[in-house]
Amino acid sequence: MPRVPPLAVSCVAAGTLLFASLAQAQTIDWKKQQPEILQHHRALIQIDSSSPPGNETKVDDYLKRIFEAEGIPVKMFALQPARANLVARLKGNGKKRPLLLMAHTDVVSVQREKWPVDPFGAVVRDGYIWGRGARDDKDKLAANLMVMLLAKRMGVALDRDIIFLAESGEEADPAGVGIAYMVGQHFDEIDAEFALTEGGGALIENGRVTRVGIQTTEKAPRRFRLVATGTSGHGSVPRLDNPLTHLSAAVAKVGTYIMPMRLNETTRAYSGKLAAISPPEDAARYRALLGPNPPQSIQNYFAQKEPEHYSVLRTSIVPTILKAGVGPNVIPSVAEATFDVRALPDEDIPKMFSDLNRLIDDPEVKLEPITANLRPVAPASRLDSDMYRALEKTSAAMYPGATVLPTMSTGATDMAQLRAKGIQSYGIGPASTEADTINYGAHSDVERLAEPSLYGLVEFTWRAAMDVAAAK
Ligand SMILES: [Zn+2]
Repeated sequence: MPRVPPLAVSCVAAGTLLFASLAQAQTIDWKKQQPEILQHHRALIQIDSSSPPGNETKVDDYLKRIFEAEGIPVKMFALQPARANLVARLKGNGKKRPLLLMAHTDVVSVQREKWPVDPFGAVVRDGYIWGRGARDDKDKLAANLMVMLLAKRMGVALDRDIIFLAESGEEADPAGVGIAYMVGQHFDEIDAEFALTEGGGALIENGRVTRVGIQTTEKAPRRFRLVATGTSGHGSVPRLDNPLTHLSAAVAKVGTYIMPMRLNETTRAYSGKLAAISPPEDAARYRALLGPNPPQSIQNYFAQKEPEHYSVLRTSIVPTILKAGVGPNVIPSVAEATFDVRALPDEDIPKMFSDLNRLIDDPEVKLEPITANLRPVAPASRLDSDMYRALEKTSAAMYPGATVLPTMSTGATDMAQLRAKGIQSYGIGPASTEADTINYGAHSDVERLAEPSLYGLVEFTWRAAMDVAAAK
């Protein structure tokens, strides 16, 4: 690909080299960048890094080649050789703490028979780039790469370092090769004031972007088991301590238990802003959530019609697995149920467990927390930080009239680990129609990204990064 000519890289004042200013950093001819952006995005998709097994090091090798050809040194950190993480850094003058641009290199696996094209072919057809990882997460990876390359080529003077992190094992990481390893063993390499990564996204309606979602917090996955024990025996002899009966009663109680509704700064701002742009009936419901006692009928409406919105109102407790029984004429000695909890970031989990124990009120049924691979909890990222303001400014510049919505994910991301270390982290993403998000989104049978959305994401990332990092 043709190199971009450096913009006004030098001029001498009192023996100092002056670099491209923030204003110059904002004058990129984006049309000219499109072939290179597309080439990187496609090349990254064409490296099959589906996990398991991942093989993310192959992606890092590609990135390493690109970075080193442009004079940007890289470091690789690997707990397992095939699942490395890659870090590159553009140095700033140190006035401010770094900005971290993070994206994961692994993708989820594919069922090839569901794809109309080769899932790792990065086919460009009908205005879309088709392929596993097209929007989860090789679009962010390509965008972050381009921001680094452009900033380096243009010689943008920086008030803070920009750190690029390509992390492995986001989709599946039982061994802790990705973010857990980087935060646990090499945190000094990625320590930053702000981070940008996946987790947000913009909505296209009638051909224009109307909403820009910025993820500022997320629910915390927690799990537990209910285990009922009793005396095993012949099915012909009923027993009062039958574990199936006791477990079933407990599952029915816990599975229909409703935790108290509680909004936080993010979900409050989200509901208010959503109300402001919604048709009257919807708006009234979103606004009612902000009042002191939201009517149960409104909460029920969300439970039925907008389950995602219902989920952000409270900690959810959902039964997901039942295990019991060995034969139709055998009373088993044990029966167990697994629950998936998605907790509000500040939920008091021990108190919740003791409340549930009181609710179950059965000495035969024990609640056992599952503590493996717990993601840490942390306060939400702030809505008044320079980074959040930069994202709002970027949105206003690129998508005039669009509403910026801070969001709380019901699922988990690797920002949990960053936030727990005090990094103000924000999830962004490409613009998409609702239909594309539903039918061709992350983890869908078929994944694709509209070409203009890829270019828009790169520009969005660039503008936001330059706003907080370019020297003022
Ligand atoms: Zn992802």
